Amino acid sequence: EFSNILDSLKVSESSTVETVYQIRNVELPVEIHLAKYKVLDKIEILLLIRDVSERKETEAHIHHLAYYDSVTNLPNRQYLADKLHEALKCKKQNSTSSYSAVVFMDLDRFKTINDSLGHNVGDKLLCCVATQLSYLTGDNIVFARMGGDEFAFLLTHIGDKKDKVEKAISGFAESIMYACQQVKKVGHHEVHITASLGATIFDGDEGSAEAILKQADTALYRAKEFGRNTFALYKPEMQAVSDARLEMEKALHHATEFKLFELYYQPQTNDKNELIGAETLIRWKDEKRGFISPAEFIPVAEEIGLIVEIGHWVLNEALSQVATWLKEGKWQQSWRMSINVSPIQFQQAGFLPMLKEQLGKHDVPANCVDLEITENMLLNDLSPCLEKMNAIKALGVHLSIDDFGTGYSSLKYLKSLPIDRLKIDQSFVRDLLTDKSDEAIVHAVIAMAKALNISVLAEGVETLPHYDRLREIGCFYYQGYYFGHPLPPNEFIAAFVHDSPTPKPSL
Ligand code: C2E
Ligand code: CA
Ligand code: CA
Repeated sequence: EFSNILDSLKVSESSTVETVYQIRNVELPVEIHLAKYKVLDKIEILLLIRDVSERKETEAHIHHLAYYDSVTNLPNRQYLADKLHEALKCKKQNSTSSYSAVVFMDLDRFKTINDSLGHNVGDKLLCCVATQLSYLTGDNIVFARMGGDEFAFLLTHIGDKKDKVEKAISGFAESIMYACQQVKKVGHHEVHITASLGATIFDGDEGSAEAILKQADTALYRAKEFGRNTFALYKPEMQAVSDARLEMEKALHHATEFKLFELYYQPQTNDKNELIGAETLIRWKDEKRGFISPAEFIPVAEEIGLIVEIGHWVLNEALSQVATWLKEGKWQQSWRMSINVSPIQFQQAGFLPMLKEQLGKHDVPANCVDLEITENMLLNDLSPCLEKMNAIKALGVHLSIDDFGTGYSSLKYLKSLPIDRLKIDQSFVRDLLTDKSDEAIVHAVIAMAKALNISVLAEGVETLPHYDRLREIGCFYYQGYYFGHPLPPNEFIAAFVHDSPTPKPSL
């Protein structure tokens, strides 16, 4: 067998080959080293055979580590990417058109399960999902774990009619979603989960593996946006949306780093048209795109975690402003500065110490500060939340519930919360004069608040008839364009704060 190699080997050269050595029915991987020498005019051949089974095992192990996921034992991202590369290469060589697909899957609410039941249960759940779905995939589908709770499927040569392939992929996605919904027994826990899926179909002309994976990811992102437990197929229009989103994330990182925000202030008044405070509203002016509404960028900041830093900046800025105005005699001790606090910021372990530090740093009396939190925050886990609210109250800081009526809060636990004020959401106020049921809701909220000794402020009061109606039904605090728009600090003072006469020295 070696004769060929030997013949071609020149004198003073050597060569190494790997082969399998058969000893009875045992196969032994070996490495053979051949060398040809000339010794005293004679050709001598040196042949070394080495058992390399251990090295082979190590190599296989390393290959496994590089291409498989240690938790679920499924192929990993790298493996799937390599297979996709191969599939694309193969497509380029064979000109016959046939469609393939990549399907991304993400478990809904996995993080909550992981956080509440522990990582151990989380890992077991991932294994359980991996095993169950493996039955559905068979040999000609690559099923991989991409990381975290993300999985992916690569289906090659599904067919050559695009609409049929699309149908087949939808069917496949349905069956995956269905399998995921089956209750999973994990240890002694029964866990209910759902999955969101995004897919893209390609026939090899779409370019790189990276581009295809990105498309599947974009489709998955859309599926998540539609709500959970859904499937979306990639369409080129989706790319623009996701590019815009990425662009926004980048700009937001930049703006946060360089503090490119400003605070505006909107007056809050009582039924005698006296100022009772202001709400601080953040403004972001981007170099390229001009003003971007907080309604647009705050949710993004929350999703990517930047809200903690932004919220910190807002608190610092607003308190510094109050301190300055107090010193200048432009802010009265009885007025409150309302500051919006995102649930994500509020839930941070460091929130309370940070708040204390800020109050101390600026030397602002706690009762000049009102924090606006949303009722949805209370849904997650009431008791740690309640503890924190009580601690905040103990400092003397006021608490308001923002956008009241839009969430799911149960009136039942409202009475156990240390709340000073409810802000009735704009949507109810807007339709107050035309929609009977909105009027009924506002009535009910006011009655209930009165019983619980909580004050009520109506947001989004835009016209005199709205103001009149609110006063009639017993709401005495207001905020809205009818009284004033949010303004930069100097304009706010100029418009709404009238210099109080300097106190005369008593005689
Ligand atoms: P929000 O807390 O409900 O704030 C009230 C929003 O309604 C503000 O929009 C305000 O400009 C607007 N508004 C006030 N009066 C009227 C009115 O009479 N009619 C109408 N149609 N709208 C009125 P803005 O400033 O665009 O803020 C939008 C949302 O962004 C806020 O809703 C709040 O959820 C969030 N946000 C703003 N600033 C901050 C901040 O500093 N931190 C956090 N976490 N969120 C903020
Ligand atoms: Ca607010
Ligand atoms: Ca609000």
